[in-house]
Amino acid sequence: MKVFIKTYGCQMNERDSEAIAGMLAEQGYSIVEQENAADILIFNTCSVREQAERKAVGKVGIMKKLKKKKPALIIGIMGCMAQNIGDKLLRDMPHLDFVIGTGQLHKLPEVLNSISEDRKQLSLLGGGGEVLTSMGTHHQMPDAKKYQAYIAVTRGCNRFCSYCIVPQVRGREISREIDDVVSEARELVAGGVREIMLLGQNVAAFGLGGDTRPPPDGVSPFACLLVELNKIEELYRIRFVSPYPSYFNDKLINTLGSLHKVCHHVHLPLQSGSDCILKKMNRQYTAEKYLEIADKLRKAMPDVTFSTDIIVGFPGETDEDFNATHEMMKKVGYDNAFIFKYSPRTGTPAAEMTDQVPQKIKEERNQILLKELGECALAHNKTYVNSIQEVLVEGPSRRNAKRWSGKTGTFKVVIFDPAPDTEQGKLVKVKITRSTSATLFGELT
Ligand code: SAM
Ligand code: SF4
Repeated sequence: MKVFIKTYGCQMNERDSEAIAGMLAEQGYSIVEQENAADILIFNTCSVREQAERKAVGKVGIMKKLKKKKPALIIGIMGCMAQNIGDKLLRDMPHLDFVIGTGQLHKLPEVLNSISEDRKQLSLLGGGGEVLTSMGTHHQMPDAKKYQAYIAVTRGCNRFCSYCIVPQVRGREISREIDDVVSEARELVAGGVREIMLLGQNVAAFGLGGDTRPPPDGVSPFACLLVELNKIEELYRIRFVSPYPSYFNDKLINTLGSLHKVCHHVHLPLQSGSDCILKKMNRQYTAEKYLEIADKLRKAMPDVTFSTDIIVGFPGETDEDFNATHEMMKKVGYDNAFIFKYSPRTGTPAAEMTDQVPQKIKEERNQILLKELGECALAHNKTYVNSIQEVLVEGPSRRNAKRWSGKTGTFKVVIFDPAPDTEQGKLVKVKITRSTSATLFGELT
């Protein structure tokens, strides 16, 4: 049987899709790139913003036509939206065969067997911790980079930011054992992987047993994990996403600075630069504390680049609050930022707040920050010109296959002309000759 998997949302979802694909491939299914060629369509969905849900619902709705032509087609929704509104989706869309939530993904092969035998709609939305340890399979997805792999180290989240649906749809935070993660990484590296990205909604809380208080100085199981991973020969680079700022104590910061495989790029979610909004968001840091962490990271890794997540138009965000966010962007000097317009999510405290901000203002604020970001990245990228960068080769560039692309440790895309012996997954030195706000261009040295 042929399976098509479409993924919406974050890297954690991409990782889940890839694990599912691996599990199904082991059972003899083949993973295909075209939905028309498939016997089974699986949509791995996101609920973080309303628009993400709307997109997935629209897509599955359209599949009704395909099912009319091909009645044996099996269609399922998995992931966060299934967890959030799965039973409603089954009621509203009779052509949908199953919904499977975030805690039961490892049962997908069983679900497919059962549906093939007995064509009844199926809903699997409960779940426990076993999903974390049962999803270690990897599969090279058609659009994935060949020498890079994701490893999920935590699942769920205990932080309950007031706008966020993740704790509801992904459940309580659980961590894997260090040895388990390290052996998965070793296996991947033995198979040719050279860069791993550690994933968790709150990745730096790894190993803290779900405690939301900042750990005391000297305690960082996440730092211990990095130390072990850094020892793996033939692994060139370690990245991680998303770390909540409060977990960057001195132990973690010093470890990041001392391990040569840990990339000098930190995604440090800010959300807002206003202390008043941060408090309403239930984020447990102030703008000052955030800046202190960013400064310490910069001292430990002078070439570090930062990216971030920002929400504009959170309920009650005044011009003054917004200006504080704008100012923070200037102070930190981000190289990239995901700027989101606040989207009310049913069941979260912020959705009940009465001082919602009009869409037009959210849009304006979004544009102002995007402009700021573009200017900042352009200025910073200029400083790379004439420098020599170590680049992990990814392969032919998407725009012009004659040129190749790769990334610096600081997560900059570099475009260069390959030599006859240039290979994907190798480290090369590139002299940067020019730059734009998004890209560096250079020549092999
Ligand atoms: N755990 C990560 C953290 O705390 O930084 C973030 C994970 S969340 C899936 C990714 C981003 O989505 C958040 O950092 C936030 O900026 C954004 N987000 C979450 N809920 C949102 C909402 N209701 N409206 C707009 N953006 C939202
Ligand atoms: Fe959502 Fe906050 Fe958890 Fe991140 S830390 S996943 S924003 S609740």
